[in-house]
Amino acid sequence: MEIILAKNHGFCYGVKRAVEMANEAANNDGKSYTLGPIIHNPQVVGRLEDKGVSPVQEVSDIAEGTMIIRSHGVGPAIYEEAEEKGLHVVDATCPHVKKAQQDAKSVINEGMTLVILGEKNHPEVKSINLWANNEGIIIEDEESAQKLQVVEKMGVVVQTTFSQFKFNSIIDILEKKSKNLKVFKTICNATQERQNSAVDLA
Ligand code: SF4
Repeated sequence: MEIILAKNHGFCYGVKRAVEMANEAANNDGKSYTLGPIIHNPQVVGRLEDKGVSPVQEVSDIAEGTMIIRSHGVGPAIYEEAEEKGLHVVDATCPHVKKAQQDAKSVINEGMTLVILGEKNHPEVKSINLWANNEGIIIEDEESAQKLQVVEKMGVVVQTTFSQFKFNSIIDILEKKSKNLKVFKTICNATQERQNSAVDLA
């Protein structure tokens, strides 16, 4: 079988950074935990477990030690819970995801209707919405965009790995849904480069 590597492939900046931070935590004293697997790669998760970094589902699963937040990010309540428990927090939320979280928050603070383009059940999308009091309307296709009501002011934030092609066609529809449309194109560079490379290869 011939294997062709795309021009841009492999771990993105945010995932590399999160894995490095987890490795650093493993070298420190005390037990460390990641809130969910740090990456969708069982080999990397397994190697970290061998070094004493275990994935857990909830903050309540951690009695003491270090809690590592993965690149997808979490809502504000998780930081509060960790602080109350006196856990040491290593925040590996990707800076691009942090920006999307803060943009979503600003949309709500400015009294606009928040629309998030992304997958409803994706942890990153959930975390973005949590920073906006869970008030965002999450849509992922043109059909759902057509169904939205016309509103006075609308702000749009996008899952960092969303398709830029789909983004363009959904924004065309949303332009007719509000006279005051503010778009935060929070798709990250790594995603755009990889999507372009995939198109080139195809
Ligand atoms: S936002 Fe981009 S760089 Fe950051 S973790 Fe997601 S895909 Fe990777």
